Amino acid sequence: MSESEQYSRNTLMDFIEHRPLDIEICDVTLRDGEQTPGVLFTQEQKLAVASELDSMGIEVIEAGFPVVSENEKEIVKALANQGFNAKICCLSRAIKGDVDAALECDVDIVSIFIAMSDMHLKYKYHRGLDEMLGCAKEAIEYATDHGLKVRFAAEDSSRTPIDRLKEAFKEVETECKVQYLSLADTVGILNPTTTNYLVSEIYKSVNTSICIHCHDDLGMATANTLAAAEAGAKQLHTTVNGIGERAGNASLEEVIVALRVQYGIDRYDTTKLTELSKMVSKYSGITPSANKAIVGQNAFSHESGIHVAAILEEPRTYELFLPEMVGGKRNLIVGKHTGKKALKGIINSIGFCLERDELCALIEMVKVCTEEKHKSISREHLEKLIAQVRQEKGIAGKGEERVSI
Ligand code: MN
Repeated sequence: MSESEQYSRNTLMDFIEHRPLDIEICDVTLRDGEQTPGVLFTQEQKLAVASELDSMGIEVIEAGFPVVSENEKEIVKALANQGFNAKICCLSRAIKGDVDAALECDVDIVSIFIAMSDMHLKYKYHRGLDEMLGCAKEAIEYATDHGLKVRFAAEDSSRTPIDRLKEAFKEVETECKVQYLSLADTVGILNPTTTNYLVSEIYKSVNTSICIHCHDDLGMATANTLAAAEAGAKQLHTTVNGIGERAGNASLEEVIVALRVQYGIDRYDTTKLTELSKMVSKYSGITPSANKAIVGQNAFSHESGIHVAAILEEPRTYELFLPEMVGGKRNLIVGKHTGKKALKGIINSIGFCLERDELCALIEMVKVCTEEKHKSISREHLEKLIAQVRQEKGIAGKGEERVSI
């Protein structure tokens, strides 16, 4: 199947002016995702997830926060020594001991963070901006002196006065050697318009690649991440299934499918997304909601007769992209909204062929059953109903007529 037949391109994008995206993904499932309450990944689990991310073409994997425990340090080190194509990154406060832990792990990149918002300075650090920035610069210098690449991350960027942010970034960029400057919407306050403004302003005032790290407290993490990319952000942070602190982060599956459908970026192997989602769901104990984009149970489920009938002719009538593109499966549901044409298509697809009057009888039975039980009909139940219809019409035993599809 050709690329253009797998999804509908958003052609309205042709009318929107933005610079071509120059992005990479840093997936933070194994760090921010693990900070989800109740989530803890073992070394084997982190290796399995990282290996999938690597094989999909994700450029950077944030493996953890080594100073948290000896075990965490061992895990980050194991990931860093796997020989993945992806660069391995870890988190570090602006403290020498944290950088030492990162060094012990042989990571490629260390993400050194401080918050510079009044809220965090006053209630978290109980220290002033200059003192915190001084600590950050010392830690950055220490890390670069020891051969690490550094991302300087401004936690709570979205609630930090923008001039303060610009000055601090400029200062760090001028005085130290940093690979990335990272903007974090720590409490998920941004929307796409303000994200665009924030990133555009920072983009104009620095010469270093910008990262964007969005949280989903208002359900806008993915939209904000894409807005940031349009405004010039290079590194986009994601988590599988959008797990993470509170409402979670921008979801990997949403971001990379949107990058493909909206921006034509097709270098990530999206066919692995469904399996990866299941893996992270199992390891984290968090199942995505049924209506979760791309990987939710209903993402490719259809019951409405009008929809199913159209889909049987051309799936793109009601699917933005085909399930195969993300390693998923279409699920045609038989229920009270099922029409005759749709039911015919569905029973044909599972190997049965009915006469017109049998089909009419079956559809009546389906409606009665679903309305009585208030739920849709399973495949087994449908097969029983088909058998019943045939018996009533006196053609029982014609099951051999099953057609293969
Ligand atoms: Mn975060």
